[in-house]
Amino acid sequence: LQAACDAAMIREAATLDGQRIHVCVNLGDSGADLPEHCDGVGLLRTEFIYLGADHPPTEEEQYRHYAAVAAQAGGREVIIRTLDIGGDKQAEYLALPREANPFLGCRAIRLCLDRRELFLTQLRAVLRAGLSGNVKVMFPMIASLKELREAKALLAQAGAQLRAAGTPFRGDMPVGVMIETPAAVQISDALAWEADFFSIGTNDLIQYTMAADRMNERVQYLYDVCSPAVLRSIRTVARNAAIAGIPVGMCGEAAADPLLAPLWCAMGLNELSVVPAQVARTKYAVGRVDAGALRARLPGLLDLDGAEEIRTALAEIQREYQ
Ligand code: PEP
Ligand code: MG
Repeated sequence: LQAACDAAMIREAATLDGQRIHVCVNLGDSGADLPEHCDGVGLLRTEFIYLGADHPPTEEEQYRHYAAVAAQAGGREVIIRTLDIGGDKQAEYLALPREANPFLGCRAIRLCLDRRELFLTQLRAVLRAGLSGNVKVMFPMIASLKELREAKALLAQAGAQLRAAGTPFRGDMPVGVMIETPAAVQISDALAWEADFFSIGTNDLIQYTMAADRMNERVQYLYDVCSPAVLRSIRTVARNAAIAGIPVGMCGEAAADPLLAPLWCAMGLNELSVVPAQVARTKYAVGRVDAGALRARLPGLLDLDGAEEIRTALAEIQREYQ
């Protein structure tokens, strides 16, 4: 298997029936390196810049980080996710008020729309880094069209500020939406017309769909990406992205599960973003999928009673490929 993964690593990933799948990496530590054989950065978690500091990071400090990643990627895409702080992640200097339910509180895009200066500073840094490579920006925890429109308006405002100051930046940066709330799934048809791409964040999507805290062991039995409720949500998002003609990726941990890679290909996902150590295995798994044949079996699979039945059926399908 190791030899097969090594061989898959240096090739572009495509299914047996020729569906090209981008395999990218999730980065989020200052020390992490971008592997040579991947299609880019599918998720750059920017929190580390904020959590590792004792002051709000300046535009210049952020710009240096983002531009360095973009330069390292060469022409490959780099999706910079704007700040996803709040919830379980706190930074003292932000003096965020305590909340009874932080995961249902003012985190991610909600906080950024509330602290506009903080957000504008980050957006200016991202726009400037757009000149160093193939940079895209992505907003986390979107739950309404209004949030997406406000975030895009602030991106435009950040651009206007840079223009006024005579600072060069990329003016037509693609904008992505993370699909990680059930609300975003339900309105993904509408969101798709106002976004350039989607990325499904299964870590949060599972927790919010199943109403099961991703950190709470007592409800781990519910926290399963193979729950029909979650899989049907992912199928809905993929369909709505296809209808609007925008690409859809996945950047939660489920993207790296080799048992599930066939499912994501069959649903029409265009990109899987995984931790660097999983790139080879993910490419190998993609290369063994007949996506078209599996697509015909999706309705039956997603009609099964529960996660356990679906996993059993997927394991059966995997054996067929061997
Ligand atoms: C996710 O929710 O799946 C995701 C990729 O974001 P994070 O794990 O950073 O919340
Ligand atoms: Mg998330």
